[in-house]
Amino acid sequence: MNYNKMTVEDLAAKGKRVLVRCDFNVPQDENGNITDEKRIIESLPTIKSLLNQGARIILCSHLGRPKGEFKPKYTLKPVADRLSELLGLNVVMCSDVIGDDAKAKTAALQDGEICLLENVRFHAEEEKNDADFAKSLALLAELYVNDAFGTSHRAHASTAGVANYLPAVCGYLIKKEITVMGKALENPRHPFVAVLGGAKVSDKIAVIEHLVDKVDTVLIGGAMAYTFKKACGRPIGISRCEEDKLEIAKNLLLRAVGLGVNILLPSDHIVSDHYGPDAKAHYTKHIPDDMMGMDIGHNTIERFSRVILRAGTIVWNGPMGVFEFPDFSEGTKTIARAMAKSVGTSIVGGGDSAAAVEKFGYAGWMDHISTGGGASLEFMEGLELPGIACLNDK
Ligand code: AMP
Repeated sequence: MNYNKMTVEDLAAKGKRVLVRCDFNVPQDENGNITDEKRIIESLPTIKSLLNQGARIILCSHLGRPKGEFKPKYTLKPVADRLSELLGLNVVMCSDVIGDDAKAKTAALQDGEICLLENVRFHAEEEKNDADFAKSLALLAELYVNDAFGTSHRAHASTAGVANYLPAVCGYLIKKEITVMGKALENPRHPFVAVLGGAKVSDKIAVIEHLVDKVDTVLIGGAMAYTFKKACGRPIGISRCEEDKLEIAKNLLLRAVGLGVNILLPSDHIVSDHYGPDAKAHYTKHIPDDMMGMDIGHNTIERFSRVILRAGTIVWNGPMGVFEFPDFSEGTKTIARAMAKSVGTSIVGGGDSAAAVEKFGYAGWMDHISTGGGASLEFMEGLELPGIACLNDK
C-alpha cells in the first residue's frame, strides 16, 4: 500500500464544502452522556485546519451499532453539542444523513461554518458500501477528508465509497498513523522489536507472519504465549491454549530460527488456580498441572525490558497478562514503562494495549498510540486498508 497520501494541508478548501469522516464513536452512559471525549478531542486538529482555510465543513461519523435503523439512542447530537463547546462556535446538527435536512443545512453553510450529519449507520447502505448511498453523501460536498483511522480497515460508504466521487485526502490522525506506522514497517530503525500479547494467538498469527522477516526480535506474552510454550513441549497446566494453532505456532518458531529472528517466550510466570478478580497470584518457573498462566514473571519482565530498552523501533500489540486485575498487571505495566523509557520509536497498537498504557500513565511517553485497534492490527499484517487506499496519492 502506498502511504504517501495527500493530506488536508494539500487542499484548496476555501469556500468549498468538505465532507470529513471522523471517528466520533464515543462511549456514553445510560443517559447519553459522553464518558470519554478523547475521540472528539483528537478530531480537532483536522477540523481547525479546515476552519483556518475557510472551508464549509460537513462532519460525519458512526456511533454504536444502530444496525441500519434510525434509533434516537445513537444520535450524534451529544457530539455536536460537545464539539460546539470545544470549538467555541455552533456546530449545526442535521436530523438526517442524506435527507432534506442534511441537504438544506449543508447547502446553507458559509465559509468557516460547520454541521454534523446524523449517524451514517442509520442507513444499512453505509456498511454495505452501497454506491448510491456513497454518491448521495458525495453530492453534499466538493472535497472529502478521511480522518477515521479506526474504521479505515472497513470499506464502507463514508470511509471508502465516497472517494469514488470526490477528491479524497487524509486528516491529521490518519496522516500520523501512516507516517509513523508506515515508516516503522517499511524502513524501521533496528533493532526492530515486536511485542505481542493478548488473549488469542489466532488474532496475531497474521501479524507475526508478516513481521517475522522484518523484525530482529519478537517478544510474546499474554495468553497467546501458552500456545507457543505448548508447541515447544513445555507444561502449561490449565492456561489458555488454542490447540488448533499448535502446528502454526511450531512452524512460525521454526521459520524464525531459519531467518535468524529471535522469538522470546516467557520463562517464568505468575499463575493462579482460576481466572477472576479474586484469583490468588503465585510465582513459578514451571506451570503446575492445576494452574494457569496469568502474567509474565519478573525474570521474563527483565529479559523483555532489556530488549525493548535497546531497540530502535518497538511495536506493541496485546497486554502481557490479565492487566485488568492488579495482581496480574505487573508484566504489562513494566513493559509499558520500558517502552516509555526506550530511546527507540515506541508504537502502541490500539485496543487493550492502548488502554493499558493510558491506565498506567505512560501514554504521554510513547511516540505513537494508534487510534484504531482492528485497523492497526490489519496495518501490522501488511493488509491494504480500504479507507486509506482510496485516498489520492501525493
Ligand atoms: P487482545 O484483545 O487479544 O489484545 O487481548 C486482551 C485481553 O487478553 C485482555 O483482556 C487480557 O486480560 C487478556 N489476557 C492477557 N494475558 C492473559 C492470560 N495469561 N490469560 C488470560 N487472558 C489474558
